[in-house]
Amino acid sequence: AKADGRSVFRFFESQMDSDARERRMLEVELRDALKNKELELYYQPLISAVDRRPMGFEALIRWNHPIRGLVPPAEFIPLAERSSLIVEIGDWTIEQACRAAASWPTGMTVAVNMSAKHFRLSDIAQVVKKALANSGLESNRLEIEITEGLLMENPEEVTIKLAEIRDLGVTLAMDDFGTGYSSLSYLLKFPFDKIKIDKSFIDASSQDPAARDILKAIASLGKTLNLRITAEGVETAEQADFLSTIACHQLQGFHFSPPLDSIDMPRYLLANVPT
Ligand code: C2E
Ligand code: CA
Ligand code: CA
Ligand code: CA
Repeated sequence: AKADGRSVFRFFESQMDSDARERRMLEVELRDALKNKELELYYQPLISAVDRRPMGFEALIRWNHPIRGLVPPAEFIPLAERSSLIVEIGDWTIEQACRAAASWPTGMTVAVNMSAKHFRLSDIAQVVKKALANSGLESNRLEIEITEGLLMENPEEVTIKLAEIRDLGVTLAMDDFGTGYSSLSYLLKFPFDKIKIDKSFIDASSQDPAARDILKAIASLGKTLNLRITAEGVETAEQADFLSTIACHQLQGFHFSPPLDSIDMPRYLLANVPT
């Protein structure tokens, strides 16, 4: 038994080594990914709950790795966040998303996910301002999505930076609403325009009446606080209809469309958005 224990331990040890090695390799390759144009933004429609037409799109980053294939953001954004690489990737994403949106039919908005690390390390309002100027995109067509993680540390500095972004006329959305510890208190403290209800509540609402009650409560809270509400991860017609009846503003999810690549996006615009 003793020998077994040791070999199990050795197995874990070598497994850990190879995981760490793998991460280091990815990290090295990620440095060249931008230069080699391996990063790409996909765009997922944000649908009006009222008339079921697209109002805008969320930019979701992908890494087209020459050997590994499509690497999802959950696998490389955390790696990028361990170094200043996240600043380069974040700057590129905002710039790229604004340029893309400037070419869409008027009125379509673009939402960009902002890493807490990027937000902290850079003069983010300056980055946003520059991307708007370079692309010619009207500021009210840009939304920045932020998760709670960002708000916990150094609230004074965060408040100033968020206010600077909002003063540009850009929309601020709280992402993954309801998953953190203090979502509610943050709504009071920080200048959000919009909340995105986390997919887990939408999932649960299909089975669980209590989840539907929570969704109703969030929607009415949004109304009281004058916040727009988006529901993410909508996968069925029943979910979409329920969310419409409780007056969510926007719906997003596979029921309407997956995130679209550079081939499908122009097709989608042609078919679904009047010019
Ligand atoms: P998120 O911001 O909560 O994005 C929603 C995720 O749910 C996306 O995964 C999207 O593809 C997926 N999704 C959308 N509709 C459905 C649905 O109906 N069912 C299911 N099962 N999933 C759906 P994705 O693209 O893999 O992104 C994962 C996370 O990575 C994002 O979560 C976001 O936190 C982060 N991320 C994505 N792009 C960027 C980026 O450009 N910068 C940064 N910093 N983070 C990003
Ligand atoms: Ca998001
Ligand atoms: Ca989200
Ligand atoms: Ca989420």
